[in-house]
Amino acid sequence: MPDLDRLVAGLRCRDVLADLSDFLDGLLAEERVNAVKAHLAECETCARFGAEVAAVLAALRAGHAAATPPLSDDALARLRARVADAISTDSGPG
Ligand SMILES: [Zn+2]
Repeated sequence: MPDLDRLVAGLRCRDVLADLSDFLDGLLAEERVNAVKAHLAECETCARFGAEVAAVLAALRAGHAAATPPLSDDALARLRARVADAISTDSGPG
């Protein structure tokens, strides 16, 4: 299990994951965006997770113009729940 309390580039992984959806939606302040980017550049755990979430969100945004099936709100909710779960999971099986 990844250590989400790991401090990289001034941010902990759980902080980065908590901000991830806002980061991808462009809702974070530029200062925070730069901090998250710096973390992602050095943290493989968050970079991988971020890439996965980013791919889904990109497909979702492109869904209007492309043949990619758009994600439902339900799917997006599950994705957010997965992020929340990754943040909150400290013990227990998988
Ligand atoms: Zn991280």
